[in-house]
Amino acid sequence: MAITGIKGFNDILPGEVRKWQHVEQTARRVFELYGFSEIRVPILEKTELFARSIGDATDIVEKEMYSFTDKGGNNVTMRPEGTAGVIRSFIEHKLHVSDPVAKLYYMGPMFRYERPQKGRYRQFHQIGVEVAGVSDPKIDAQVQTMLCHFFSELGLDEPRLQINSLGCHECRPAYRRKLREFLRERLDRLCDDCKRRYETNPLRALDCKAAGCKEATAGAPSVLDHLCEGCAEHFARTRGYLESAGTGYDINPRMVRGLDYYTRTTFELVTGLLGSQSAVAAGGRYDHLIGELGGPAIPGIGFALGVERVVLLLDREGFSTRPDLFIACHGEAAGDEAFRLMSRLQRLGVSVEMDYEGKSLKSQMRRADKFNARFTLILGEDELGRGTAAVKDMDRGVQQDVSLQPERIASVVRGGDGS
Ligand code: ATP
Ligand code: MG
Repeated sequence: MAITGIKGFNDILPGEVRKWQHVEQTARRVFELYGFSEIRVPILEKTELFARSIGDATDIVEKEMYSFTDKGGNNVTMRPEGTAGVIRSFIEHKLHVSDPVAKLYYMGPMFRYERPQKGRYRQFHQIGVEVAGVSDPKIDAQVQTMLCHFFSELGLDEPRLQINSLGCHECRPAYRRKLREFLRERLDRLCDDCKRRYETNPLRALDCKAAGCKEATAGAPSVLDHLCEGCAEHFARTRGYLESAGTGYDINPRMVRGLDYYTRTTFELVTGLLGSQSAVAAGGRYDHLIGELGGPAIPGIGFALGVERVVLLLDREGFSTRPDLFIACHGEAAGDEAFRLMSRLQRLGVSVEMDYEGKSLKSQMRRADKFNARFTLILGEDELGRGTAAVKDMDRGVQQDVSLQPERIASVVRGGDGS
C-alpha cells in the first residue's frame, strides 16, 4: 500500500502554490513599503523558549506543542508561532544596538497539535511582523493599518479590524480579580477548560466559544472600564491614529487572545466567511516580553496572519492566475515561429503558453480555454506569409491584426495598440 501524508500536514499542489506566492509576494511588497525587513529564524527551538514566552497556562503550551527530546537529550519544540523565535534572535544578535527600532517580518510553517478541520491544521503557515523599540501608539496604528492595507491589496475588504486593550501589569491584576469575582457564582456554567483556567487565566472565558461560557460571561465587567490612566490614554491615542490613517475598526472588549505576553493593544482581523475559524490575523503589544526573555527592557508589538485562511478567502473571491497570451498554430513552420515568438515575449515579461506538440487546432483552442489566457494569437501559413496575425482579446471579444514582432505583440497584450 502507498504511504500517505500525516493527518493535518498538507501538500500544497502547483495550482494552489500560485495563490500562496501571490499572498507572499503581496506581503513582501506591502511590508517593505512600510520599511520592514525580512528575518529568517529556525523552526526548532528549545522548549523553554515557548514555555517562558507564550505562557504555561495557554492552549498552545498546555496541549498543542510538537515537543520531543532529540538524540542529545535536549528538549526541543517545532515552533508553534513566530514571535518567540524572532525575539530570541533579536536579543541574541543584539539588534537593538545597531538600530533602536527594529521592524521585522517573517514567513513560514508553524506546528500545533490541534484537531484538523477546514482552516485549522497541524502544520500551517504564518506571515508575521514584529516591531521592537517603540511604545508610542503611532506604531500600534501603523502595524494595524499595514495589515489592513495588505488585505485590501489582495482584494479582500471583508475581514474587519477589531481592537481592544488588555491593560498592563498595573491595571490588569485588579481587573482579573474583578472578573474572577464575577465568574465565581457562575463557575458551574463554564466549560471544563475555563473552569480549570479560572485561577490562572480567567480572561479566556470572555472569548470562549462554548455556549455556557458565552452565557455566563454576558454582562461581565469590561476590561476597557478598568484601564489605568496610562493604558486608557494609550488606547485613545491608538484609536485617534487609526482614524487619521483612515483605517476602519470595531472595538471588541471581549477579545483577549490566547498568549500571555500581550499588554495594552490587541487586535484581530475577523471574517464571517470561515465558520468558527474566524480570525485571519491576530496580534498585539508585548511591552515586557523582550525583557523577560533576557533582552533589553524595550517594548514590542506584532501580528501574525494565517496563510491557509487567507488562501481560503481568496478562493471565495475566485482568484486565479492566467497567462497573458496563448499562441495556437497549424503547420510546422508556424510551430517554429510560435516558439521563436514565445521565447522573445517571455524575455519581455509576457507570460505565454503554446502547444508544444502540434496537436489539432481544435485541441489547442481547448487548451487556451483551460488556461483562460487573456489573449490568443493564431498562426498559420497565411499569417507567416503576411507577417501579421490576429491577436484576440478574450475578455472583450475584439481582435486586431498585429505585426509578428515581439515588441508589437507585447504592447498589445499590455493594453497598448501595438503600432
Ligand atoms: P484560533 O482562535 O483560530 O485558534 P489563534 O488565536 O490560535 O487562532 P494565533 O496563535 O494568534 O491564532 O495565530 C494567528 C493566526 O494564525 C490565526 O489568526 C490563524 O489565521 C492562524 N492559525 C492559528 N492556528 C492555526 C491552525 N492550527 N491552522 C491554520 N491556521 C492557524
Ligand atoms: Mg488556536
